[in-house]
Amino acid sequence: MLLALNATFAKPTIYILATGGTIAGSSSSALSNRYSSGTVTVDKLIAAVPQINEIATIKGEQVSNIGSQEMNNEVWLKLAKRVNELLASKNVDGIVITHGTDTMEETAYFLNLVVKSDKPIVMVGAMRNSDSLSADGPLNLYNAVNVAMDKEAVGKGVLVVMNDEIHAAREVAKTNTTAVNTFASPNTGKIGTVIYGNAKFYMQPTRKHTKNSDFDITKIESLPRVDILFNHSNDNPDFANIAVKNGAKGIINAGMGNGNPYPSVLEALGNAVKSGVVVVRDSRVGSGETTNLGEVDDVKYGFLTSDNLNAQKARVLLMLSLTKTNDPKKIREYFLTH
Ligand code: GLU
Repeated sequence: MLLALNATFAKPTIYILATGGTIAGSSSSALSNRYSSGTVTVDKLIAAVPQINEIATIKGEQVSNIGSQEMNNEVWLKLAKRVNELLASKNVDGIVITHGTDTMEETAYFLNLVVKSDKPIVMVGAMRNSDSLSADGPLNLYNAVNVAMDKEAVGKGVLVVMNDEIHAAREVAKTNTTAVNTFASPNTGKIGTVIYGNAKFYMQPTRKHTKNSDFDITKIESLPRVDILFNHSNDNPDFANIAVKNGAKGIINAGMGNGNPYPSVLEALGNAVKSGVVVVRDSRVGSGETTNLGEVDDVKYGFLTSDNLNAQKARVLLMLSLTKTNDPKKIREYFLTH
């Protein structure tokens, strides 16, 4: 199903934008769990997989070279603007973004909401650094380039390709700290597979993304502060109070079970709403919907709920929502449609 999108006989042009992570990590030992993220440059990444030059015209750019635990709003905005710029050119057929796995799901969802193109955008990383025995990066990169050239990837929003699987940006999450098969889409399952470059799709993303998304960062230079709280037994309201005091415009509360906050946290969050902060109830569980008006009286407290987004993705959506409005009704609509 591979198709040269750019011209009938020419090879497609795929940009590889490198941001860092384990795929660009190195170690002094092939058998060590100790390594440094973001030490290998984009040129070396490309040189390590010569097969991709046989199937596409590959161009590389270094956007950052960091472990993705260092990812921040500035890099997101820079990356999104560059992706939009590249994909607006008729000479670019698709983009592959190499990225650390720790926050790949957040970057994928952010781009999914702000890139304005149907063309394939594929994120890829590795769980084993480039010097380790059985490094997974090279085959992941080969697979990612193939997906970025595949006509079936058009219009599906940002995709994550790891470990022979294709996941949709809204759904994908890192689910294991070290396993090669760490990426999963807990609520919906993967949308496709890619075996030695041969991609097959079985599902479609249904929520608004890319060209149909309500968000646009063209003129945005910074994003509003949204904090995440992780609740637990015997909790206290200090973090909720300090978030408000220090200027958070939104709070995602990763409550227990179906988004239940500890009692004193519940009261602090209610006060946060009264002071103008948008509070979204989410869950620390990692899958399933946080239902509106479950055990918590969301109407009384003025809380929104996250649908089935995990807390780190709900944060991305709330930041972007707050660039447009403070109206809870409108933000609720964004959470039900994106
Ligand atoms: N902390 C690293 C990162 O996210 C390790 C994870 C990885 O890339 O596999 O960049």
